[in-house]
Amino acid sequence: MFGECHAHIMMDGKNYKSAAARHKDSIKEEVIRAHFQLWKEAGITFVRDGGDALGVSIRAKAIAPEYEIDYRTPVFAIHKKGHYGGIVGHAFSNRQEYKELVKKARREGADFIKIMISGLMVFDTFGVLTEEGLPEEEIRQMIETAHEAGMKVMAHGNGSRTVQAAIEAGVDTLEHGNYLERETLDLLAESRTIWIPTLAPVGNLLGCGRFPDEAVQKILKRQMEHIRYAFEKGARIGLGSDSGAYRVPHGQGLLDEYNWVKEAVGPKQEMLLRERLAEAEAWIQKKMKQ
Ligand SMILES: [Zn+2]
Repeated sequence: MFGECHAHIMMDGKNYKSAAARHKDSIKEEVIRAHFQLWKEAGITFVRDGGDALGVSIRAKAIAPEYEIDYRTPVFAIHKKGHYGGIVGHAFSNRQEYKELVKKARREGADFIKIMISGLMVFDTFGVLTEEGLPEEEIRQMIETAHEAGMKVMAHGNGSRTVQAAIEAGVDTLEHGNYLERETLDLLAESRTIWIPTLAPVGNLLGCGRFPDEAVQKILKRQMEHIRYAFEKGARIGLGSDSGAYRVPHGQGLLDEYNWVKEAVGPKQEMLLRERLAEAEAWIQKKMKQ
């Protein structure tokens, strides 16, 4: 079984607000354990978390060995004040504060640094993001600062401009990466950056009624075409479902993700796909730890 390269143990696949509220006063170990159990039952032995603001994932790290799971966490994600990311981490307003957060994550046991450089997709309107994303220069500084501190970087990024800046700055893994232009996909394919395209949080919305299927289908189709293009160009692609996100259960989410990615590259490519996903995972497992 593949490892899960993008998960949120704090979330439950149903409602992130109530999931967060559960841990608000004190961290509920039984919830963490139930999620580890789901991964264990799915045969997953490697999980990389995307972090949370409440300290759930760092607690999970201490419990993981009991489930024979190699679990990695950034502790919390880092976002620019006033921008997307509050649910998964802490904010900075200037370069100094960013540096302090990198140090804090390191001190608290982070395996790598997670940064938020863009908004989210607006699921009922194709092509639209919730916000524009950070300036290129700031993205570059964020990645460099983390690298200088000896930490690898996982970046949440959508949209060509922000993603391009991240790749150029040598980001280690790019999460989501929706709405990339051809030029950015080419750059990605030539780079060492591993792309975790997270199809499950989009594909699993189909038929649920929360958003119009037509828009969801369009977002999904575009991302699948991009995966196929990048895959054929030799991009490094990894498997991560964003499990814990709405309609993406822990364990099953990764199976869903695999099926979506397989559909994207075409069933004839399955052998090569498995090889490439395993390579990306092996790199993450080897390098993204303190
Ligand atoms: Zn995530």
